[in-house]
This record gives sequence, structure tokens and C-alpha cells, in this order.
Amino acid sequence: MPRIYLDHNATTPLIPEAQKAILETIDTLGNASSIHAHGRTARTHIEEARESVAHFFKVKPSQVIFTSGATESNNMVLKGFQGTIITSAIEHDSVLDAKPSALICSVDKQGILDLDHLEKLLINTTTPTLVSVMAANNETGVIQPLDQIVHLCRRYGAKIHTDAVQAVGKLNIVWTDFDFISLSAHKIGGLQGVGALIINEKISLFPLIRGGGQERYFRSGTENRIGIVSLGKAIADCHNRDWQKIEMLRNTLQDRLISTCPEVVIFSKDAPRLANTLCFSTPNLTSNTQVMHFDLSGISVSAGSACSSGKVKTSHVLRAMGITSPHLDQSLRVSLGITTTATDLDPFFTAWQTLYSRSQERIAS
Ligand code: PMP
Repeated sequence: MPRIYLDHNATTPLIPEAQKAILETIDTLGNASSIHAHGRTARTHIEEARESVAHFFKVKPSQVIFTSGATESNNMVLKGFQGTIITSAIEHDSVLDAKPSALICSVDKQGILDLDHLEKLLINTTTPTLVSVMAANNETGVIQPLDQIVHLCRRYGAKIHTDAVQAVGKLNIVWTDFDFISLSAHKIGGLQGVGALIINEKISLFPLIRGGGQERYFRSGTENRIGIVSLGKAIADCHNRDWQKIEMLRNTLQDRLISTCPEVVIFSKDAPRLANTLCFSTPNLTSNTQVMHFDLSGISVSAGSACSSGKVKTSHVLRAMGITSPHLDQSLRVSLGITTTATDLDPFFTAWQTLYSRSQERIAS
């Protein structure tokens, strides 16, 4: 039996168009900074991808800076902006750890930004201010009320950055509302280790990495050309994705879990959520036990965000939403991809049912 992959928020497979373009480009030689023919060919590959990213976000190609991924893009903005930063309690660590002095806006029980709190923070800042809010959360899938956040930022003259890693290709967003946007190629069907930062060229941003002056001095270092090519193809494909059927699959699975065990808690259930994400807690089953059981059953799922240590730690996202033990220690994230089918979800449900019945028997005995 082939393994089943239900961890698409961690990374999602290369799309065929990206794979084809990678294979066509990988044997071509050239450093895009060289002025000879080889260099010019390499430059063409990068500039075509830049056009593709710019087209998606409706910005000028000069506003697209290629990076090693959203972690770097987030660090570039959070460390490179001169002034006060306001962010939310449920951001990715690459935002929270990049700027420990940032003011933290709280979220409600569903994980939605507390707009009154944001306004209070904005009123009290005197220096140039940047608000950094993720478009959609990687653990719960909760979608922020971006229109209202943008409106508040504009009212108080704040600049705005969004970590759009999980939203790109899934949500219809007016991208031109934002001064900075971070993205990673591998979350949309490109390669790992490459991404971009969309910038508002009128706002000064100090570069993180200095050297040869590539990417208009914003990001020195020879470009990851093959990765960039994959990003160009993946982003072009984002327009063609229909998440409605995936949402139906997710909802069916959710209903099956609740009807089997009404004590199952679905996180962010009453808020707008990404169509592909289901984060929930099952009574009497720790995250670790569940992840291991599914792994042994040939199914890859995650306890929350993928963590570099490979260990499962309790989620700062759920904690910020006021979730406490035991639910906090029982969370599991199932994230579907555009290619996921009902045939992938049936074995998941069966494996979960087995685990749940076993835990019920243990309690009864
Ligand atoms: N932001 C969010 C919301 C993410 O989900 C991730 C990846 N888990 C990142 C940033 C970082 O992306 P990368 O590891 O590709 O740099």
C-alpha cells in the first residue's frame, strides 16, 4: 500500500509543470550575474520567473525579491524595517523570533486578531509602524479579516506585511493592499529552499544579506536559479486550483469524527478557515500517540507545525487562543492537498477510529 500524505501545510508535492521546467533548466550552465551568453541565459530564466510572480501579485517585476523562502522573507521585513513592529500571537516562529521586541496583538478563541487591541496598539505608537499579520494560519487554517486589518493600518499610517505562505493559491486576496508579502515555493508546488518577498519600493528596508548586490542589493548571493524557475511555474498554476471539492472532503471527515466522538474539538471551527486544514483534539489521545499511530498505519500527519527538532511541542498558536490541557496536548493537524481524494481520507478515518476505540476500551477496563 502506498503511504498516504496528509501534511500539505508542511510541504506539498512538486507540480508536473515545475518538475518539467526544472528538468529542462538543470543542465543549463550560467551565473545570472555574468554578462556573457551563458549568464544571459541564466538571467532569462530568473527574469521569466520574476514576471510570473509579479503577474500573480499584480506588482511590477522590480518589486519581487527572490529569497531562500518565507523564513528569510519574514526575517528581511521584521529585521530590516526601521520602526515599531506590531504582530500577532499566532504568527510563525520566523516572525516572532525575528523581532522579539515586537508588540504582540492578541487573538480570540478562534484565532482571529483582536481588532480593538490592534487599534489600541496602533494609537499608542509614535514611530513609523509596520503591522505583520499572517493571511492564514498554518496550524488551524484560520483566515484573518485582512480587509479590516488593512483599513486600520491605513487609518493610522502603518505599513503592512503579510506572511502569505499558506494563503497563496488558496485565497482570493487583494495583494496590492500590502506593502510586503512573504511566500515559499514548496507550499504551492515548487521546490523547497526558495521563496520571495514582494516589496513596496518606496519603503526603505535594510538588507539581511550583503555581498555581490544581487536582487537589487536587497538579497546578495548567487540566485537559486532552478528553485526560482520552479517558483515561477508553481505560482502560474495557482490560478487553476479549485479548493471547493477539497473543502467538501475536509468537512465530510470533520463530520465523521464528530459523529463518532462528539467530544472531538475542532479548532477555529467557527471562523473562516482554509479549505484544506483540519486541526482537532481527540479525548485521551496525546498528539504524540496519534502521530505515531498514523505513521505506523502508513499515514503522514502532523501534531501542528513541523518542528525542526522533529519533536512534538505544544502549540503557541493554540495557547494564544486560550486552549489549555488536555486539548492542547491532544491536537492533530490534517492538511489536504489539491490532489487529495476520498480514498486518502477513508484509511485515515479508519485508523483514527481504531485508535479512538482502543482508548475507550482502555478507559472502560
Ligand atoms: N510562515 C508560515 C505560515 C509557514 O507555514 C511556514 C512554513 N511552515 C513558514 C512561514 C516558513 O517557511 P519556510 O520554512 O519555507 O521558510
